[in-house]
Amino acid sequence: AKSAGRNTMRRFVESMNVQAFERLTIENGLRRAIERGEISLHYQPQFDAIDDRAVGVEALARWTSPQLGVVPPDRFIPVAEESGMIHALGELVLLQACQLQRRWQNGPNAHLLVAVNISALQFTGQDFVASVAAILHETGADARRIELEITETALMGHGPEQLERLERLRALGLTLALDDFGTGYSSLGRLNRLPITRLKLDRSFVQHLPSDADSAAIANATLSMARALKLEVIAEGIETEAQKAYLFARGCRLMQGYLYSRPLPEEALEAFLAEAAQR
Ligand code: C2E
Ligand code: CA
Ligand code: CA
Ligand code: CA
Repeated sequence: AKSAGRNTMRRFVESMNVQAFERLTIENGLRRAIERGEISLHYQPQFDAIDDRAVGVEALARWTSPQLGVVPPDRFIPVAEESGMIHALGELVLLQACQLQRRWQNGPNAHLLVAVNISALQFTGQDFVASVAAILHETGADARRIELEITETALMGHGPEQLERLERLRALGLTLALDDFGTGYSSLGRLNRLPITRLKLDRSFVQHLPSDADSAAIANATLSMARALKLEVIAEGIETEAQKAYLFARGCRLMQGYLYSRPLPEEALEAFLAEAAQR
C-alpha cells in the first residue's frame, strides 16, 4: 500500500511538472508569437435568421506555433491573462479586426459588424479606452461597425468606474455585447444601467435545446428580459435546425454556430460571405 501511495505521488508530481512545463512553454512561446505576429484571426459569421443574411462576424484568435502546433484560445488566453500579456495580445487582435473593417468599407461587407472579444483583465487595464481610441484612429475603422464582446461575469460587481468606462467606449461609437450571457447573475436593474445593445446567449444553454428544461428556462428568461429592456439577443453555438427553430420561435433572430459556419480564415470568410449573399 505504501509503494502504491508513493507511485501515485510520483505520478502526481510528474504530471504537475508536465503541466508546469507546458505552461512555461506556452508563456515563452506566446511572448515570441505576439512579437512576431504568429497570432492571426479567424472569423465566424453571424446571421439574422429571418432571411439568413450575414449581419456580422466574430473575430477569434488563433495561434499556430512552430513548436506547439495549433494552440487553442482556451489554452493561451488564460496564460496571457496571468502573465500580463493580455494587453499586448488584445491590442493585436483589435488592430487586426479594425484593419479588416477598414478594408471592407467600400465593398459588399461594409454593413457587417466585426465583433471582438475583450478579456475581463484587458477591460480593466488603465489605458484600455485610450488604446481602443488610438487603434480606431490609426486604422480608420468605422467604430459603429466594431462591437466589443465583454463577458457578463467581467462586469459583475463593478462600480461606477466600470460603467463610466463602458460609456466612454460607447461615446467612441462602438457597440457593446454581453458575452457568455446566462453564466453570471445580472439583474434586470443592473442590465438596464449598462450601455449595451446585445446579449450573447452562451453556448452551454443552446447546446441542450430544445429537450433540456433548464436550458429552455434560461433561454426563455433571457429572451423575455432582453425584450423588456429592448436589447438584441444573439445565440451562439447553434449546431442544429432544431436549436435554431426553437429560439427563432421565441423571438431570437440573431444566430451564430456551426450550423451556419465554423470560424474561417479571412479569404475563406470572404468567399463564404460572397456565396451566402447570392443565395
Ligand atoms: P467565446 O467568446 O464564447 O467564443 C465562442 C467559441 O465557441 C469559439 O471557440 C467558437 O469557435 C466556438 N463555437 C462557435 N460556434 C460553435 C458551435 O456551433 N459549436 C461549438 N461546439 N463551438 C462553437 P474558440 O474560437 O476556441 O474560442 C474559445 C474562447 O476563447 C472564446 O469563447 C473566448 O472566450 C476566447 N477567445 C477567443 N479569441 C479571443 C480573443 O481574441 N480575445 C479574448 N480575450 N478571448 C478570446
Ligand atoms: Ca465571444
Ligand atoms: Ca460563450
Ligand atoms: Ca468566453
